[in-house]
Amino acid sequence: MKCTKCDQNAIIFTPYSGSHLCSDHFINSVERRVRHRIRTDGLIKGSTEDSPSRWVIGVSGGKDSAVLTHILHNMLDKDPRVQLIALTINEGISGYRDESIEVSKQLTNSLGIAHKIFSYSDEFGIDMDEVVQKNPLKLNACSYCGVFRRNLLDLGANELNANKLFTGHNLDDESQTAFMNFLSGDVSRITKHFDASLAPFPQRTETAFIPRSKPLRDIPEKEVALYAYVKNIPFYDGDCPYAVDSFRGEVRKLILELEDNHPGTRHSIMAGYEEFATIASSHYQSNKESSLQQCTKCGSLTTQKICQKCVFVEAVKAV
Ligand code: SF4
Repeated sequence: MKCTKCDQNAIIFTPYSGSHLCSDHFINSVERRVRHRIRTDGLIKGSTEDSPSRWVIGVSGGKDSAVLTHILHNMLDKDPRVQLIALTINEGISGYRDESIEVSKQLTNSLGIAHKIFSYSDEFGIDMDEVVQKNPLKLNACSYCGVFRRNLLDLGANELNANKLFTGHNLDDESQTAFMNFLSGDVSRITKHFDASLAPFPQRTETAFIPRSKPLRDIPEKEVALYAYVKNIPFYDGDCPYAVDSFRGEVRKLILELEDNHPGTRHSIMAGYEEFATIASSHYQSNKESSLQQCTKCGSLTTQKICQKCVFVEAVKAV
């Protein structure tokens, strides 16, 4: 099959747009969507040569963060308004994170991007191997790990004086999260997700935390993987031995089936979600930040007296 835009052979067909694309036009298409996202989210607005923004990229070594780092580096390496720094979280999972950290180091070295690693063991005095072995609260590993990672990403981004924190979430990730949030029936959760990481910057109402951004959120997962393959970007492809997220797995399967039968479903989910969240966000505005306080143990912002991370750490250390 020929490329829709030229005489080259196509390497991909995207049913949601009806296009066959050759490798050059596919690469252009991915990069154009990321540039468009950076522009429409107002990410560079306000940054100047005299007062550059510091963008911290969460780099796990997986395909999404590797592709995001490459694209941002290629777009902004010569732009004096932005400084890029990579941040890797080491959860302490033997045989898994050690390898992906090596890939992250190679990636950032090859691009000349400063790279900092923050670990659960240095910051919290525990690691995930110990958490899983003790499991004091009888939760799955990801319930602990997600709380620890969010806390450490904020802490690391703060220490690195970040203006914005970037993650490599793609269209599949975000449409799954959106669908799961809808299914939870918790509208405040939808507005929180939107305000913290999806809203265009001029309309952000969440100001207490370092703002997050997901410039790959318009790109389907398969296209992120193909981009990495075509551009020969090395990434770590291993699976975490503690991964359990059965609800997300079910939603993933459901959305992929819907996408097969109705191309464009993922884009529609996100378009409707963002419009709904924008409306809901103003409704929840009054009680959003007023309920935040500092954790009495570690000083993190939380809605409880003691933050969830400290509750988990204390429970593990008590065993
Ligand atoms: Fe942590 Fe779960 Fe991710 Fe493993 S799969 S790194 S336990 S959140």
